[in-house]
Amino acid sequence: MGKDTGFIEFEKQAVPRREIRERVQDFREYDLNYSDNDIRQQASRCMDCGIPFCHMGCPLGNMIPDWNDLVYRDQWQDALGALHSTNNFPEFTGRICPAPCEDSCVLNEHYTLDPEEKIKKKHAVTIEQIEKHIAERGWEEGWIQPQPPKKETGKKVAVIGSGPAGLAAAQQLRRVGHQVTVFEKDDRLGGLLVYGIPDFKLDKIHVQRRIDQMTQEGVEFKTGIEIGKDLKISDLRKQFDALLIAIGAQHARKLEAEGNNLTGVHYAMDYLPQRNREVAGDVLKDGEKIEASGKKAVILGGGFTAADCLGNLNRQGVHPEVCQFELVDMLPRPTPVHEEAQMDSRANILTESLSGSSEGNVQSLNAVKVQWEKGSGMKRLEDTRFSVNADLVLLALGFLGPSLEGLLQELNLEMDVRGKNQALRVQELQKLMRDGQPMFQVRADQNFMTSCDGVFVAGDAKRGASLVVWAIWEGREAARCIDLYLMGESNLPSSPQAEMLA
Ligand SMILES: Cc1cc2nc3c(=O)[nH]c(=O)nc-3n(C[C@H](O)[C@H](O)[C@H](O)COP(=O)(O)OP(=O)(O)OC[C@H]3O[C@@H](n4cnc5c(N)ncnc54)[C@H](O)[C@@H]3O)c2cc1C
Ligand code: SF4
Repeated sequence: MGKDTGFIEFEKQAVPRREIRERVQDFREYDLNYSDNDIRQQASRCMDCGIPFCHMGCPLGNMIPDWNDLVYRDQWQDALGALHSTNNFPEFTGRICPAPCEDSCVLNEHYTLDPEEKIKKKHAVTIEQIEKHIAERGWEEGWIQPQPPKKETGKKVAVIGSGPAGLAAAQQLRRVGHQVTVFEKDDRLGGLLVYGIPDFKLDKIHVQRRIDQMTQEGVEFKTGIEIGKDLKISDLRKQFDALLIAIGAQHARKLEAEGNNLTGVHYAMDYLPQRNREVAGDVLKDGEKIEASGKKAVILGGGFTAADCLGNLNRQGVHPEVCQFELVDMLPRPTPVHEEAQMDSRANILTESLSGSSEGNVQSLNAVKVQWEKGSGMKRLEDTRFSVNADLVLLALGFLGPSLEGLLQELNLEMDVRGKNQALRVQELQKLMRDGQPMFQVRADQNFMTSCDGVFVAGDAKRGASLVVWAIWEGREAARCIDLYLMGESNLPSSPQAEMLA
């Protein structure tokens, strides 16, 4: 512990952020950096409380008190080493992690009640920002260098999907000497880091730096190849000693309401990737661009995806009053983009229908309040029906699981389906989906192996739509299991989280 009295002497300092008026004019990151002195002060607030709940709250088991102490003592390179020992990509999580570690910080036991907002103002250590600053210092100083393996094993592994799970697994596997090829169906690498999460949260330069590092370590990347369509998985199995499926879970939940096909109603994942493409300099095809300028927008859903839609709408000059409706009993988690608009955010709202003009353009959304009751589920409150004007509706209703077509269908793998005790094969699940929208994921044993020998799975495809920090953890753990499968033993690290789950 660097400074015994840091948590008494220094207040938690809010993250420095760009002015709203300025930041909505562009797509650059909205968070700024602390000064060197301020970040050291913030790190010194860590009490090293004996039982580090923060470390347990972090899915990666990041050694938070250790690197807080090292930052306070100005030993940044050692702090970077401690951070990298559990996390391949701390500059990603340092920007976009919802930081469950901070929720677990013991300093939260001391909170103040904001009299106006009637919310608890918590005083946790600014762990996520310290993580970002350590990683960025590492890049600035040139401490982050490629780490090619010292010897080759002669084993070949194919990683399918280049999101954070696939990238973390590929880096771990390559560093112990396996020949690794990452196949990606999109034209750019990074999965949702690149085609979901906007630049104002995570500039794509951070992803590219890691791809460059991994390329120099000897990972081979092949873009524009969809496994199961452009290349059969059976052919891949002949060429590689093990496969890792890291294809995410981007099968969106559909809106089952009349008018869902009107012009102006779009799924979030039709909208967000095209925003990121434009920011990256791509020219969209004629008629493809979803325009928002001056429009009255309604967002359905309350998660990250919905918030990212909102941030993009604000930057496209949407009408300043934006509605955001969530079906469940939870208001959307406030994010910096919520400060940028005049929000009408409501929980417990069910969309019953959408009305449109004679030309088929959406004009309004018709909804009702609902109440959730234990046992009987959702009940409509009949006298609460209302309509709002809308000429743009974005659907961010969550994700059911990975795409079943292509490689999962070809392998006909066992799948876990929410509400079913037994695994279903992909083809049985496809039949079930004709009548409903169950949530599902690829079934794996405790060694991340699917029902097919030598075929492993990690990330959202295995745990359902989740977080980047969990995807990195999954990728690292799956890499260790693959290494064990190929070599009979593995020196790759396993995080304490894995032991708790085993
Ligand atoms: C809009 C949005 C915003 C989010 N914001 C946050 C956030 O702020 N913080 C956070 O922690 N989490 C966030 N998440 C969640 C997070 O992005 C995911 O949990 C994480 O990216 C999952 O990683 P993954 O590697 O499993 O899958 P993905 O990132 O989905 O990557 C899967 C990759 O596999 C490729 N692929 C799929 N099928 C094939 C195939 N057959 N052949 C070849 N390639 C294939 C896909 O093109 C994709 O590139 C967000 C999610 C969304 C949708
Ligand atoms: S990865 Fe997330 S949970 Fe872990 S230390 Fe960083 S911000 Fe906290």
